[in-house]
Amino acid sequence: MDGNANLYALLAKGFPADRSAIAIETPERSYSWNDIEELSGRFANLLHALDLPAGSRIAVQVEKSPEALMLYLASIRAGLVYLPLNTAYRESEVDYFLTDAEPAVVVCDSKNQEWISRLADKTGTAHVYTLDEDGSGSLALAAASQSAEFDTVQSLPDDLAAILYTSGTTGRSKGAMLSHRNLSSNAEVLNKYWGWRPDDVLLHMLPIFHVHGLFVASHGALLAGARMIWLPKLDIEKALHYLPQCTVLMGVPTYYVRLLNDARFTRELCSRMRLFISGSAPLLTETFEAFKARIGQPILERYGMSETIMLTSNPYDTALGERVGGTVGQPLPGVMVRVVDDTETELGVGEIGNVQVRGPNVFSGYWRMPEKTREEFTADGWFRTGDVGRWGGDSAPANYLSIVGRSKDLIISGGFNIYPKEIELLIDDMPGVDESAVIGVAHPDFGEAVVAVVVPKAGASLDAAAMIADMKTRMANFKVPKHIYVVDQLPRNTMGKVQKNILRTQYS
Ligand code: AMP
Repeated sequence: MDGNANLYALLAKGFPADRSAIAIETPERSYSWNDIEELSGRFANLLHALDLPAGSRIAVQVEKSPEALMLYLASIRAGLVYLPLNTAYRESEVDYFLTDAEPAVVVCDSKNQEWISRLADKTGTAHVYTLDEDGSGSLALAAASQSAEFDTVQSLPDDLAAILYTSGTTGRSKGAMLSHRNLSSNAEVLNKYWGWRPDDVLLHMLPIFHVHGLFVASHGALLAGARMIWLPKLDIEKALHYLPQCTVLMGVPTYYVRLLNDARFTRELCSRMRLFISGSAPLLTETFEAFKARIGQPILERYGMSETIMLTSNPYDTALGERVGGTVGQPLPGVMVRVVDDTETELGVGEIGNVQVRGPNVFSGYWRMPEKTREEFTADGWFRTGDVGRWGGDSAPANYLSIVGRSKDLIISGGFNIYPKEIELLIDDMPGVDESAVIGVAHPDFGEAVVAVVVPKAGASLDAAAMIADMKTRMANFKVPKHIYVVDQLPRNTMGKVQKNILRTQYS
């Protein structure tokens, strides 16, 4: 033990003795454990040579590639704060993140270099590098002359390792500050709880700008010294090709719906698979049941969020219980979960209330938002998740949590979180629009689809198709409404609040 709380120091303990073994395999090429150490070492040397103050942020908006993962590891090794950005974000969105986070370094796709450099100039970010999907770009060029040896810096448990921006309910995104301790403790707990083994092979198709793909999936495989099959995104053809050699898959519910839609997805194809994990959005009980019937294994559903990484999980070890569809399982070891009413009183089994959590995995607060941070923690230190849930109920045992809704009105489409407010603000600014309400409606493929209900100004007429086309140029595609309904007025309650529940029923 070297006593270093740096997350990379922990992960590297899991790397296999044979560093020439394959760690990451893409359809094009493979990377050994040596490659991981050396390439992250070169990137770390490059970052270290910039001589940045402690706690400097490195904002990264690049397509998924093994090199992008090495860049993340390099940032951790060099003691910087990694700030991944969804690749779908457009200029005005990235502008907000750079202005708010003031990163010292930005790494982007070369196709976006022009506008990102402009933003970086504006926000005083001195270093802009490019990293393309094939690993090329100015970052690789600059790193090539660096040494592959790098002594991972000494970190303290509470040093920041990453900032993950969540969309804000008020339209403003909040940066969840995660420490080395937050990430390490969760990685260690999941390593044991899900029975990770060195001979596991993880099918990794998740994006790496989000907690699920970057932390839960990647840390899991790295800490176990297990191989990853690395695909840029969900690809059913490739998944079917690789599944026979895989043992673990992590996905959002959409992945499982799509796999089940393909008759070639069979029990035989999954003969080596030991674990299918679902999260980020609710898995329908029908999907859980259909999967069990077809593949002969229950999907393991778990629950977590950017601010906390993983909180609860259905059991992997059957000695701890069965996996129960429609529930997110039991609190992970070391994580405390409670369900309370609005007066913070703990509720009994079956009663629906606010989910609050605490533990070594829970973030320290929102970046430069002390006020917001105070609001989201109780006086005795519990984090208010914003999710509404209950213990037990229906056929679930009393120590199993179910998430029944979201107090914060979040829409989850294809695993991406969307806050209606941000879209409503954009629509309300469009010519001829009086007001709008954005809701999520059930969608067989995406889980939920974004729908907007819009009231025109008196005498104005609105062209829904033109509005959608306009929005596509101004925000990430996954946020753009699939449909816009033009109505005379929005239903409101006596307090003047728009009754989104009525809209959801009406447009479902
Ligand atoms: P994010 O910060 O993007 O990971 O989103 C976190 C939110 O996703 C949580 O607060 C939940 O509302 C939702 N979520 C994550 N996992 C599940 C799950 N298994 N079931 C229902 N909702 C989930």
